[in-house]
Order: sequence, then C-alpha cells, then structure tokens
Amino acid sequence: MKHITDFIRSTFHEPTEFIPLHDPRFIGNERKYLNDALSTNFVSSVGEYVVKFEKMCAAYTGAKYAVATMNGTAALHIALLLAGVSENDEVITQSLTFVATTNAINYTGAKCVFLDVDKDTMGLSPEKLSAFLKNNTFSKDGKTYNSTTKRRIAAVVPMHTFGHPCRIDEIAQICETYNIELIEDAAESVGSFYKGKHTGLFGKMGILSFNGNKIITTGGGGMILTDDEDLAKKAKHITTTGKIPHPWEFNHDIVAYNYRLTNLAAALGCGQIEQLEFFVEEKRKLAEKYDAFFAKETDIMFVNEPQESRSNYWLQAIILQDRSARDAFLEYTNQNGVMTRPIWTLMNKLDMYKDCQTDDLSNSLWLEDRVVNIPSSVFVKNYYHDLQKIF
Ligand SMILES: *Cc1c(COP(=O)(O)O)cnc(C)c1O
Repeated sequence: MKHITDFIRSTFHEPTEFIPLHDPRFIGNERKYLNDALSTNFVSSVGEYVVKFEKMCAAYTGAKYAVATMNGTAALHIALLLAGVSENDEVITQSLTFVATTNAINYTGAKCVFLDVDKDTMGLSPEKLSAFLKNNTFSKDGKTYNSTTKRRIAAVVPMHTFGHPCRIDEIAQICETYNIELIEDAAESVGSFYKGKHTGLFGKMGILSFNGNKIITTGGGGMILTDDEDLAKKAKHITTTGKIPHPWEFNHDIVAYNYRLTNLAAALGCGQIEQLEFFVEEKRKLAEKYDAFFAKETDIMFVNEPQESRSNYWLQAIILQDRSARDAFLEYTNQNGVMTRPIWTLMNKLDMYKDCQTDDLSNSLWLEDRVVNIPSSVFVKNYYHDLQKIF
C-alpha cells in the first residue's frame, strides 16, 4: 500500500507532512471582506454581507431566492417545517447519509423511513423509492399514507453524496405522482449540476452547507434555495425570530428561530464563493489523476461522477473489495500520515434511529462495507507556507 500513500503525497506535493482529508483554502478576497465587515462594526445578524452572499448564491445556482442560515442542519429543519412536515408525519430519506439529514427530520417531530441508494450515485434510488411507495402506501384525499403506520408521508429528502448528483429528476417525478414534497439535501453538492441544473433546485426547496469541511466555507453556515417568493419570505422571517419589521418596536408573530448567518460569516462566504468555480475545476482535475492511478489497481475502484452530471467531487472516494480490505486500507493510510475515512455508518444502525422502517438497503450495506474517502483538498502551491507569512 506504500505506493498509494506515496502517490497521494506526490499529488499534494507534500513529501513529509500529514495529508488531511479536506481542509479549506482562503486565497481570494476573504481577508479583505472580513476586515471590511469589522470596520463597519456590523459583525452579527445585521449587515450587507448577508444580503450580498444570498444574492451571490442565488446567482451562482440559478435559484430565484436564497436565504442564509447559521448552518446546513438549521436550513434543512426550516425547509421541512415550511414544507408542512410535522409531528405524526413521516419523511423518506436515504440510510446512507450524514446524521444531519436525519437529525433535521427529527427536529420537526416526524419519523424517518430509510430507503436504499443506487450503487453508482450513492444517492436515493428512484427504483427503490418507487417500489416502496407502490407496495407500502395508500392514497387518501390526494395524500400518501404509510400502510403499516398509517402516518402521512410528508416529504422525501434525497442527498447528493460527496457532491455526486443522484437521479434527482426521476425522484422529482415520483414525488409529483404521489403528491409528496421534495426537499433536497444539497449540503455536499455546492457547485454540482445535474442535467445542467444546480443541485437543490429540483424540489420545493433545497439546502446547502458551508461548514468548515465543505467545498466552500463560512466557518459555519447554510442556505435555503427556492424559486417560491412566498416560501423565501417565510424562511427569512422564521429564521430571524419572527420579528415584524419596525424601527423600534419588538413584535413577533410566530414561534421562530434565531438561525441567521452572521455578517462576519457571510463576508467570508462572499470571498469563498468567488473561488468556487476554481475549486470545482481543481477537484475535477484531482479526480482525473486519482482515476488514472486507481485504474491500475485491480482491487480498488475510484468513484467517478454519475452520468449526465457535473460533480464538484467534494470528497474523493474509492471502493475496496470488502470490509476487511477497507479496514486494512484505513489502518495503513491513517498510520502513515495520509488521512482517510470510511463512509458513514447507516442511519438505521444508530441507536436513536434503529426502530425506523427501512427497505432491504442492499446497496447501502454493500457500500457501507467498502467506501473510503481519500485526501480531497484543493491543491494550492505553498499554501501553508504562505499562511505562516500572514500571521
Ligand atoms: C454537512 C451536511 C449537512 C449540514 O451540516 P451543517 O454542518 O449543519 O452545515 C447536512 N447534510 C449533509 C449530508 C451534510 O454532509
């Protein structure tokens, strides 16, 4: 396995040091905008960078409206609430996801149903979704109910794993047929397009994340995307304490949240989103290098973008032969200064979610045993050296 860690080291041009899985790059106007935000004294929940960052996200993705939040989990929580998801409802999502998806669903009081993913996209499988709805639900007054629990199925939340778009247009079609709201978890796929359309725009609302480990970061932050003006207004209102605008009076008309993004975070975001296209291009080049290298390995498969998509390749991934090969690979690489990480434990295996309904999850179980993420940072020559000069 030494030739693999050697290759990864040479790819990042760092012969001796520890190679992290993914870390951010601040190479544009980030410092300038942050200083500017500081000099205006608007550091918190008011300030022009929040509006600017929302506009930039809308412009980049093609969404009509973008509403900033303090993180992606909060964005998903609000999107689900605004889609009408509440206690006694159920929400279908994939078992193979990061726990934030599942937690946000549970904040609404709804229960999760975990369905399988496709092997190639690692995102929700339209066939499995279709089969579940056909065999396990009934329709009443135009709504879809779970035959076993009798609860309404209020929403479907697919996720674009590691930035690779799932078959979201087919999923949207199925949701329409069954009159179920589609909310996309596009937290990992900022900069990823499916059939020319940015991920997060295929359903009623989509959410993005700008956590420290994502392709662009605000330190912590999220965004709700929608084409619906009324929903965008409601999203802004409910994430900003439900305050009725007035120069001095404090009146609020709903139980709301303090989920807004700070002006400082948004300033950082404005600097980052200007770099997004460059980051995506670099990650796509890195994917080509990895693909060529792993093509020569008979027992390791590099994960390439699905058809008809343009992936941001946020986290690069490989598929090993089986769980013991996976464990051996994780052990060797991490002990030799090259950080790697297995894909998440399936959600239905976590104690809090072990009683949730599932389908057979055959692909999810297969992937859980084999998928590993490998170093994926954007390569910038002398990045750490230059950082040290700044401080
Ligand atoms: C990162 C992420 C989120 C949101 O995370 P935050 O850290 O709250 O911004 C949601 N879903 C998935 C799949 C993620 O990877």
